[in-house]
Amino acid sequence: MVDAQQALQQLKEGNKRFVSQVGKQHELSSEQRRLKLLDGQKPFAIILGCSDSRVPAELVFDQGLGDLFVIRVAGNIVAPSQVGSIEFAVETYGTPLVVVLGHSHCGAIQATLDAIRNPSVAPSHNLMSIVSRIRPSLETLAETDLKHNETDLVKYAVRANIRSSVSQVRYSSPYLEEQVQLGKLNVVGAQYSLETGEVDFLDI
Ligand SMILES: [Zn+2]
Repeated sequence: MVDAQQALQQLKEGNKRFVSQVGKQHELSSEQRRLKLLDGQKPFAIILGCSDSRVPAELVFDQGLGDLFVIRVAGNIVAPSQVGSIEFAVETYGTPLVVVLGHSHCGAIQATLDAIRNPSVAPSHNLMSIVSRIRPSLETLAETDLKHNETDLVKYAVRANIRSSVSQVRYSSPYLEEQVQLGKLNVVGAQYSLETGEVDFLDI
């Protein structure tokens, strides 16, 4: 297994291939590769990304079958089933890297900002379970001068939510917290741009 630094490098190089339109998707999803994986997998990175149809992790990082352990949920939130999935991959496969992948124009972020500003329009109970996990990291932001500039507000809100999810992944589970402290696991945030196709890794 590669270490977290090498894993990060592979993702950065894959995103460069994706942006340059020189991806290896045909080879990465070949029959030969599929059959090679019958005996098991060793994903080198775990991606906690948004369900948005425009941000498929394997494509934007130009990775193939067996490479990424992907968890997708609207707003890349951290709830018990996400933490459990990450624990499973780290413990079972020794995967050294978790990337929380948010993105521009995120509908879940927009829905949360709308819920903060229009409390009378309540989303469904199920949608509320997502919004209520995003909301704490956006409430203060929505009160700043950014409220006069919707584009900037959404941009900063996306970043705040990524940072919040990174922190929650690191500390919401004694097992993951220990793995981070032992240096066996790195958790980083990243933001995908729908405009450019580039993934910007955040310094957290
Ligand atoms: Zn989204």
